[in-house]
Amino acid sequence: MTWTVPLTDVVVTDDDVAAVMDCYASGWLTMGPRTRAFEDAVAQFTGSTHAVAVSSGTAALHLACRAAGIGPGDEVIVPTMTFLATAHAPRYCGATPVLCDSASPTDMNLSVEDVSRRITPRTKAVIAVHFCGYTADLAPLRTLCDENGLVLIEDMAQAIGARYADGRPCGTGGDLACVSFFSKKQLSVGEGGAVLTGSSGAADIVRSLRSHAMTSGTWDRHRGHEDSYDIVDLGYNYRLDEPRAALGLARIPRLAAEIDARRAAVLRYRERLGFSERLTLLWDDEAVSRSSHFAFPVLTDTHELRVHLRRSLAEAGIQTTRYPALHVLEEYAGQTDASLSVAEATADRHLCLPLWAGIDDDTVDRVCERVLHDVREA
Ligand SMILES: *Cc1c(COP(=O)(O)O)cnc(C)c1O
Repeated sequence: MTWTVPLTDVVVTDDDVAAVMDCYASGWLTMGPRTRAFEDAVAQFTGSTHAVAVSSGTAALHLACRAAGIGPGDEVIVPTMTFLATAHAPRYCGATPVLCDSASPTDMNLSVEDVSRRITPRTKAVIAVHFCGYTADLAPLRTLCDENGLVLIEDMAQAIGARYADGRPCGTGGDLACVSFFSKKQLSVGEGGAVLTGSSGAADIVRSLRSHAMTSGTWDRHRGHEDSYDIVDLGYNYRLDEPRAALGLARIPRLAAEIDARRAAVLRYRERLGFSERLTLLWDDEAVSRSSHFAFPVLTDTHELRVHLRRSLAEAGIQTTRYPALHVLEEYAGQTDASLSVAEATADRHLCLPLWAGIDDDTVDRVCERVLHDVREA
């Protein structure tokens, strides 16, 4: 299928390519000085004390769970409305994810009240997902976690550059936060991720576990700082490599402007689609001003309209997507629970329309015209 309007697009500039070629020409490809510089740039952009780069957002979630001390017998509360990696991560540590509901029909993020209801003596942590770039309601969640001695992990794979309701940057409100640099994400290098934390102890654990828990790395040994190593834990190979760090470093200076461009497109969509009686916009203008706009979902009034729109837009060459709630997937079917009904209704009726930093006004207008036409004809 060749789409006339793809769901998303990645803009790679000549400077991006030159930075990567420069890295290859240097002859040093595994984790080294460029990864270190990329970590500094990510920490600075997100306002976090420590950023530790890893090979994916999924690896970041796994290592955040390890650094949080999550293990067999523990329960970790995660929203059912998320990408599966959020729930897989505690399972990699032998723990059990407990799915929770969404906040409201127009807020796909977790319900703090529902999290509170699902806390048991076994609960060790909560993973708050900032869905589509919109931050979860972190202040009351922080209070709840503190009162119950729970670790608060943020899955900000979709939300680099977003802000909480109090204006602080996303990634600074939990104990650990996980970023993804997957190709669809706002800051993309292909595959990559990072763990952000204010705790130097947690940062040390993540740094150690991403590289087999070896007491010295290849770059240290290359520079003659160490001539041998010890192994002190069960670690992994979750390293980021230098070409991808170089690409990230080249792209990060444009990130703030690209997020603004995404927001401008979202505002245009909202203005044009908001008056349709059969469509509901998610979140509100204030939330839009703080989101970093990974995706633009709209709600249809019925499941049938969503199915119809997805098909009719595809026929017009316009690519869309949707997220299933985790508890309807076979792997998580055992977790089905009537009180996940808010998420289930949203999952059944939402559709994400094309969005990327370089989408132009004409394209947004064409998609809107087609959506409104198809809604009228449905
Ligand atoms: C993309 C994503 C991840 C996983 O990131 P990868 O880099 O693809 O491993 C985790 N959680 C959410 C919410 C995501 O959107």
